[in-house]
Amino acid sequence: MTSDLSPSVSTQHLLAEQERAGILLVRRDRELTQANERLQDLDEAKSNFITVAAHQLRTPLSGIKWTLNLLLKGELGSLTDEQKNFLMKAYQSNDRIIMLVNDMLGADRVESGRMHFRFEALALPVLIDEVLAEMAPALHARHLSVLFDHHSSALPPVRADAKKLRAAIQNILDNSCKYSHDGGTITVALSVDTTEHAMVVSFTDHGIGIPASQQKHIFERFFRAQNAVKMETDGSGLGLFIAKSIIEKQGGRIWFTSEEGQGSAFFCTIPLAQKEQVG
Ligand code: ADP
Repeated sequence: MTSDLSPSVSTQHLLAEQERAGILLVRRDRELTQANERLQDLDEAKSNFITVAAHQLRTPLSGIKWTLNLLLKGELGSLTDEQKNFLMKAYQSNDRIIMLVNDMLGADRVESGRMHFRFEALALPVLIDEVLAEMAPALHARHLSVLFDHHSSALPPVRADAKKLRAAIQNILDNSCKYSHDGGTITVALSVDTTEHAMVVSFTDHGIGIPASQQKHIFERFFRAQNAVKMETDGSGLGLFIAKSIIEKQGGRIWFTSEEGQGSAFFCTIPLAQKEQVG
């Protein structure tokens, strides 16, 4: 076989091709880097916008809450039952916006890594009791009962940031409450996993459950399953995203099992304060 190009010419041709390809690669690499930088800038601008907007909203919302509270308590004059009823609705809607704004700020802190933890040894049953006490009005309004084994106070302390862990547990329990049917039961249970040196907490409800096809998205930001949107129009889809981030940053895990129409069980682990206390 012969070629009409001499070997040296074809080598030169190959080298030139290679050089052109190299230049193209370098240019493409630069373009991608620049695009990536632009995206990072945009992402930062978006985060800043959310933070500023949410912060700006918090003050007037607190003002509204304060004023409505005064009116409801009758400190600005007595009200008819009907007026109280309407004011109560305004108060609750305002509270929901405050929660949403707090979620937005929380999610933003998670994303930007601006979440700082102050670890300490905590008695989990006490913390859960506090969260449940705060939720009592919401539970009562839906006629929900909570089963929580109080003998578990003999359990060893966990290592966590109290405020953040409380927020995570609140988000999970809020969901158990929101997505339960009226009159349902929620069970909270604690146990020690000696292999993992962690406390395992489970939150079980018999509510609407999560459709199998949507389960993989549950911890994603802003994701809400179709049946949840249908049942409970309020919700940001941020609660579990925040809870997962908090639990994992404390060295734990979070997962769930669920069946649509049957209910859900959410589990999380929280490392024990002192490994030697186990078993
Ligand atoms: P949301 O504000 O919508 O409750 P979350 O991030 O807390 O947002 O939860 C994301 C989605 O996960 C919910 O919209 C719902 O579809 C589903 N989900 C979470 N917990 C439960 C639960 N206990 N029962 C049924 N669905 C749940």
